[in-house]
Amino acid sequence: MAVLRITKYGEPILRQKLKPVKYKDIAPRLPQLLADMEETCLAVRGVGLAANQIGLDLRLAIILLPDPKDENAKPTRYVIINPVILAKRGEKVEEEGCLSVPGLWADVARATDITVRYTDENGEEQVKRARGLLAKAFQHEVDHLDGKLFVDLVDPKLKPEVKKAIKQLRPKWD
Ligand SMILES: [Zn+2]
Repeated sequence: MAVLRITKYGEPILRQKLKPVKYKDIAPRLPQLLADMEETCLAVRGVGLAANQIGLDLRLAIILLPDPKDENAKPTRYVIINPVILAKRGEKVEEEGCLSVPGLWADVARATDITVRYTDENGEEQVKRARGLLAKAFQHEVDHLDGKLFVDLVDPKLKPEVKKAIKQLRPKWD
């Protein structure tokens, strides 16, 4: 396993709409890839990591959902391949961050309850309803696969502030 470098805001691959994954083609390298993505995400205490955040053009992401009752417990891993959000319900504004914009936190509106369809790590199609943090994570990761970042969703009035903050943070990134 390996901790990989995470791409940062400003790198073109984060703005790419990623290529659909053919499960059969990726299956042989999937266990290693997922192990590396998980280790990379855990190393920076992330909740999710999309393929373009490690430089790959694949519609694939992982979510590592922490146990709300036990912060030392192993998070639940979701592997989401070619995900599509089928329905969104409710809305809540909450602070959000991203491993590709480290150090920045900003309020973003997200649906509170979603239904998502995706292929899992075994090649099985899943339809899942998610609420709370998991719903937020699914939306954040699907956005990554479409080349979108959470900073795109902040209130337009706050965008100049976000730009300024990114400019200040950037020299600290690897
Ligand atoms: Zn992110």
